[in-house]
Amino acid sequence: MKKALILSVAILFAFALFMGAAPSDVQAKTTFVTIGTGGITGVYYPTGGAIAKIVNKKRKEYGIRCTVESTGGSVFNVNAVMSGDLEFGVVQSDRQYQAMKGLAEWKDKGPQKDLRAVFSIHPESITLVATVDSGIKTIDDLKGKRVNIGNPGSGQRQNSIDALTAVGIDYKKDIKAENVKASEAPGLLQDGRIDAFFYTVGHPSGAFKEATAGATKVRFVSVAGKGIEKLIKDKSYYAKSEIPVKKLYPGAVNDTDTVETFGVKATFVTSAKVPENVAYVITKEVFDNFEAFKKLHPAYQVLTKENMLEGMSAPIHPGALKYYKEAGLMK
Ligand code: GLU
Repeated sequence: MKKALILSVAILFAFALFMGAAPSDVQAKTTFVTIGTGGITGVYYPTGGAIAKIVNKKRKEYGIRCTVESTGGSVFNVNAVMSGDLEFGVVQSDRQYQAMKGLAEWKDKGPQKDLRAVFSIHPESITLVATVDSGIKTIDDLKGKRVNIGNPGSGQRQNSIDALTAVGIDYKKDIKAENVKASEAPGLLQDGRIDAFFYTVGHPSGAFKEATAGATKVRFVSVAGKGIEKLIKDKSYYAKSEIPVKKLYPGAVNDTDTVETFGVKATFVTSAKVPENVAYVITKEVFDNFEAFKKLHPAYQVLTKENMLEGMSAPIHPGALKYYKEAGLMK
């Protein structure tokens, strides 16, 4: 009896020691990396989740553990990756270009020399929705209306300003511009507190499902015409795009199947300071499990390994490049 008791106490003690020791052992070997995304009703947030899911499957083998953070969007992500607060970020291709060149939000700070591209992901469209009651049918009708152009830190903010400027609307004078996060805009639209909002995002996205699913009737508004055509011609990072609104958002009040606009690409970036093996492992896991990755979001349907290497303007991170060379995707 006594012996058994001593034995069980000893086992308990050993177990407690083991449990206590385990986490610090794991921590010593684990590299934690955080991916900056966007609002939870966008596509960046599930994208960060998809990448993390694939990489974390092998966390024992590689000792890398990915976590995902919801953020204010592209501009925030570039800045957080540059300051070392985040290791990776999802960033619009136009914003990657501007950060590299020291344009737009980086005009005062100058070129972000340590920014590195890893790969491109899904296409994103500059998307405009308006309440039917507002009478807004074209982008020109936005004059005098309450329009959310996007929070500072988001990618869409500059896209909205570019689109408005291209059609001769001064966002400071001609509209009542709001600066709220895209995750809050659908609620404000449904409550009649704004007439329209812009969001640069992949489709389908939770934000537009929410915007078109309530009692307030909402339509997608095309962002097209002469002014927009000139904008696309002038800025190499913009391209024409179409949103299949009827198919993706049956709650929307639109007569046509698709709505015309322009778009960019979501890209995955990091810093030159992030170790080669970390960027290598993440790239390898996403590309080696490409078919499984593609299934993780409907916005990835159009992805090919080849088009995931297009739309990057920053130098490619050496870890990613090592994989592309090994896989024969780059020379
Ligand atoms: N394109 C948006 C931005 O850069 C984010 C879109 C999303 O979260 O899917 O801020």
